[in-house]
Amino acid sequence: MSPNNADSIIVLSGPEFEDVDYSELIKFIKNYGFSIEREGDLLAKLDADLFAERMAKIRILEPDKKHLNENPFPVEVDYEKRNLKSIPRKKGIIYSGNHFLKILQEQLDDIFDLRKNWPVYLSDQLLATFEARWHIRVMIFGFPVIISVPGIVYGPARSREYYISAQMGIPEADEDYIKEKDERKTEVLKGYLFQAIYFYKCLLEGKEFRFCEDKNCSLYNSHWQREILDAQLKHSLCEKHLKEIKI
Ligand SMILES: [Zn+2]
Repeated sequence: MSPNNADSIIVLSGPEFEDVDYSELIKFIKNYGFSIEREGDLLAKLDADLFAERMAKIRILEPDKKHLNENPFPVEVDYEKRNLKSIPRKKGIIYSGNHFLKILQEQLDDIFDLRKNWPVYLSDQLLATFEARWHIRVMIFGFPVIISVPGIVYGPARSREYYISAQMGIPEADEDYIKEKDERKTEVLKGYLFQAIYFYKCLLEGKEFRFCEDKNCSLYNSHWQREILDAQLKHSLCEKHLKEIKI
């Protein structure tokens, strides 16, 4: 019998965001034949003391060095404890995405039962992975799949011209990108949800997960803001991936 994902339920967890409409995301995914349900913020279930210490330890200290904040100061642990409870949370600090994944993983039941449960967590924090230096990411693939909502704004870069103008103090050119507060985030998240679903489908079917080469497909790995506007904001799929994703 070939693997079938018809019984898997996508469990969408995360805190509330001012510009993210969970019910719209759920409606959209249901239209593709998937079961999806909303669960509260996974972090709310955590032991605050333990969580605070672990979060303080996974702070990134230097842009080009892999080591983390192994011996945090009490003031850093206090910050994490306060931030856990105060929604919306502050997001000035960048954490190691893969370590954050491990912290969340421990909160999940049935984590390895792909036939039951595809957890997706929308994070309100900035997460990065290390490849020669730290890069802010939107997606951290694992159990759960993490989508960093601020990562949409700070991960994929704006154009080089934008940075040159900013450096020279020239007012921002008329350039489009996803902003700190942006009503389009829900639409962009639809595209990234496709990546989460495709990741789980590949795992279930024993296939290697690969991004798409088509710049208009949601499964394209956007490195620039202008690419997000084509690939994820439009949240469409190329013919091949549409066939593969739909139930
Ligand atoms: Zn594609």
